[in-house]
Amino acid sequence: MLEKDYHTHSSFSPDAKDSMEDMILKAIEIGLKEIVFTDHFEIKEDGGPTKSFSDPLYLDRAAKECLRLKEKYDGIIYVGLGIELGQSHKDSDLAEKILSTYPYDFVLASYHKINNIDLSLYDYESIDQEELLVKYFSGLLEIAKSSNYDVLSHLDLIKRYAAKKNIRLRIEKEEDLVRQILKEVIKRNKAIEINTSGYRCPANESLPSKKVLSWYKEMGGRYVTVGSDSHNANDIAKDFEKAEKLIQEFNFIVPSYRKRMRIR
Ligand SMILES: [Zn+2]
Ligand SMILES: [Zn+2]
Repeated sequence: MLEKDYHTHSSFSPDAKDSMEDMILKAIEIGLKEIVFTDHFEIKEDGGPTKSFSDPLYLDRAAKECLRLKEKYDGIIYVGLGIELGQSHKDSDLAEKILSTYPYDFVLASYHKINNIDLSLYDYESIDQEELLVKYFSGLLEIAKSSNYDVLSHLDLIKRYAAKKNIRLRIEKEEDLVRQILKEVIKRNKAIEINTSGYRCPANESLPSKKVLSWYKEMGGRYVTVGSDSHNANDIAKDFEKAEKLIQEFNFIVPSYRKRMRIR
């Protein structure tokens, strides 16, 4: 059994509802040995935080509470301080400042917003889907190449939102761009994530898909982390048995992280 969830959101994230402590208690109840909080921090197109993250004490509060709980539950479950940084390529100075201020164990890099519009808000029926896909993967390539991160999160996230509108985006058509992203990840000795939130939407598959995982494997990728991307306690470690099957099939290694060091 996969005993660690490396992508969770507590109520510090504006879109999540359960407290860190409630999430930890749930994680203990279902037998996890590690839970890492990766509450959001989102960066705007022209730099600086997006509106919901402009409170300067936001990161302070999240880090303080997480460190308090890390100590409180020491020996029972490992509680990691992480962050999910969105659009870090749009303001690398701010990203660096954040990452050097708090003692993070783990950093996810994500691309949620193109031109300040969240991917969940695009009208996938009327837009030029191919153009948006190219924009998405080109931005992600920039992040993979230049950002400070440990793991690249939900690589084909865009399909999750399109699927909600019953549209199946043809990720495979952008194989070349996706392979360039994977190449950067491998070259920089980083990892990608198997995000199981895709099973909780009409896409009904992992993010990224099995196809993308097979490219990663073929190109020499070895490390993956697994994250439920839960925004509430009930979704912690959801569908991990499906991720486990993929890991066994591709013989991936699922490491742990401490103070941003990858350990087995
Ligand atoms: Zn995300
Ligand atoms: Zn997330």
